[in-house]
Amino acid sequence: MTMIRDNNWLLSSKGEKRGYIQPQLLHELWFHTGTSCNLRCPFCLEGSKPGDNRLEFITLEDARTFIDEAVELGVEKFSFTGGEPFVNPHFISILDYALNFKPCLVLTNATEPLINQFARVIPLSDKPNALNFRISLDHPDPHKHDESRGKGNFQKALDTMGRLYREGFGVSIARLMLAGEDNVTVDKAYAPYFRTAGVPVDITIIKFPELHKPDSRPDVPEITESCMTTYLSTSQRDGFMCNYSKMIVKQKGKCGVYACTLVDDDGSYNLGRTLTVAMSERVMLKHHRCYSCFAYGASCSEGNCKESGEEGLISA
Ligand code: SF4
Repeated sequence: MTMIRDNNWLLSSKGEKRGYIQPQLLHELWFHTGTSCNLRCPFCLEGSKPGDNRLEFITLEDARTFIDEAVELGVEKFSFTGGEPFVNPHFISILDYALNFKPCLVLTNATEPLINQFARVIPLSDKPNALNFRISLDHPDPHKHDESRGKGNFQKALDTMGRLYREGFGVSIARLMLAGEDNVTVDKAYAPYFRTAGVPVDITIIKFPELHKPDSRPDVPEITESCMTTYLSTSQRDGFMCNYSKMIVKQKGKCGVYACTLVDDDGSYNLGRTLTVAMSERVMLKHHRCYSCFAYGASCSEGNCKESGEEGLISA
């Protein structure tokens, strides 16, 4: 597939060469399971809500092709985001298939869609690869969490996290990062809740800043080629998600391979129909969320966050 893009893709508004990433090895493959969600959070960076179909449900048939290709390319991990993945009626079959090959990570709000299917989830602990859940707990204050997610949902998510951990699954959390906050203090404030849930107090906490809604156009600095080499080292550039991961997205009945988990609202980032083609495509840093990666050293990948010690973003 030849993608036709205008000069905007290559040049900044001032005509300077845009910064870019040339992908290397496919380490992690993400699937967007669809933007339908049982909740309607005002800050959702995917704009997800009940019945939303901006991004459609992927099916097992859709996913199988990419899982098989990714395994051939040497992928080390599969990750799934939404929407709420457990709202997708095909999701558990997809997970069951993917777990035959590599460890999997699922981003979930840990409420009814997952709770109601627990009997189908528990047997996945017997699969040959590990299954980890990243649960959204926005603030270490149940009232603040419930203001956006609905009354009682902090406790529900916490209970589900404890139950998953007791069944042998790995758990971590994702939270909102507020401007000017003291990261360490906020992280520590979760400890009493983790103790109550019976999970280790040092589980991974992924933080994400304001990323703005899909199709928004916030005014952020543009990243030029010279910014990338002047301000970042080679290893920092290698840490960009678009270097080592891709995401499968379904729209209008067709799947495409997007550059990363953060840019599914701009068709320029649909890099092709196969992973092999997509991995050969240079990714220009034109999207406003690219600035977050540049400024915060962001990554959705837990493995990468741990290795680099940098702040991480999430995508659901
Ligand atoms: S948002 Fe980040 S990971 Fe995605 S294409 Fe831009 S720089 Fe790369």
